[in-house]
Amino acid sequence: MAKILAVLYPDPVGGYPPDYARDEIPAIAGYPGGQTTPTPHTIDFTPGQLLGCVSGELGLRRFLEDRGDTYVVTSDKEAPDSTLDRELPDADVVISQPFWPAYLTPERIASAPRLRLAITAGIGSDHVDLPSAIAHGMTVAEVTYSNSISVSEHAVMQILTLVHNYMPAHDWVTAKKGWNIADSVSRAYDLEGMDVGVLGSGRIGQAVLRRLAPFDVTLHYSDMHRLPKEVEEELRLTWHPDARSLASSVDVLSIHTPLHPQTQNLFDEDLIGSMKRGSYIVNTARALIVDRDAVVRALNSGQLAGYAGDVWYPQPPPPDHPWRTMPYEAMTPHVSGSTLSAQARYAAGTREILECWFDGRPIRPEYLIVDGGGLAGTGARSYTVAG
Ligand code: NDP
Repeated sequence: MAKILAVLYPDPVGGYPPDYARDEIPAIAGYPGGQTTPTPHTIDFTPGQLLGCVSGELGLRRFLEDRGDTYVVTSDKEAPDSTLDRELPDADVVISQPFWPAYLTPERIASAPRLRLAITAGIGSDHVDLPSAIAHGMTVAEVTYSNSISVSEHAVMQILTLVHNYMPAHDWVTAKKGWNIADSVSRAYDLEGMDVGVLGSGRIGQAVLRRLAPFDVTLHYSDMHRLPKEVEEELRLTWHPDARSLASSVDVLSIHTPLHPQTQNLFDEDLIGSMKRGSYIVNTARALIVDRDAVVRALNSGQLAGYAGDVWYPQPPPPDHPWRTMPYEAMTPHVSGSTLSAQARYAAGTREILECWFDGRPIRPEYLIVDGGGLAGTGARSYTVAG
């Protein structure tokens, strides 16, 4: 029997379960492009429940224990001698979410001789050292598309939040008990008429483009693979061959590439400096795609008018992380892909992957990042490994 180790974020401070704001969530059967939502044999949770925290257990305990497997769930992953480090050496499967990542470093992978499967309950497996996973003979899988629309909605929200100067206006009327119209509007603009670009026009990037099109903006994108001509025409997109060309052409840039060697530290001082003064960057992809301190300097100098996103490094970030106190930000913790709506999909997708794994059936190629000794499926298209 297998040992499955799940590293999930802590429960709400008010206890579990929380008081839910709504009684149900819409049923979504498919994604744009025709991919179906997860198809496990069954689920043991009610969609809309909080599943991504320790007590939520991704709704997997009954399934795993009925099989006779051992299911260990913890949020303790960073401290020396953490539960993750203590439980890892005899684990067969590790499940983690990008919001509270179990960083599977080369050392941790080496400490786990039985480890054969790492599942990302969500999207983005950069917290797994992919070259080590390949060398270890592991499969790495994620629940592709499960939260792509969730993230695209969050990115659009953060673009509007920055451009309309929402956070300071909110602070004036709530925390500061004021009614300061001039202070609130002196950095507020309309998005209408602006040039808006996405870097990475995959599932999330394309969903952002589609959601922004009705705002009467001029849309730009850059990606390694160009979108079909019909899509470019429908959305009136301008394609750019690289990030530099895109960055210097837009007022607002939203990042939607995976983190891999080609994108790490891409938005450094030089690239940010090539943007128009007063540009906005929204980053819901991965924090290490931008130079942390270059962002802070650019906000202080006025080169950037605003920066928003939900991705940090490390996660959780230390109390003195400079993004907690920099000006003109609209940061959230890493939540965009963990709405209750998204959780229902990625918990079901995690179960689908586990069912396939235990039954010896192939995992959908769209879920695969590493398999068979190399990058596979979605991983082979979207990731690179240094070498
Ligand atoms: P996709 O794989 O669908 O899209 C990523 C796109 O980025 C692909 O079109 C890919 O190109 C492109 N790309 C990769 N490298 C580069 C590069 N160097 N320059 C330009 N384009 C590049 O992924 P998703 O849209 O589903 O997700 C994107 C990322 O968003 C994830 O990897 C993850 O890091 C992050 N994410 C964040 C979440 C959150 O909660 N904040 C939740 C989910 C994802 P191509 O395929 O054409 O080769």
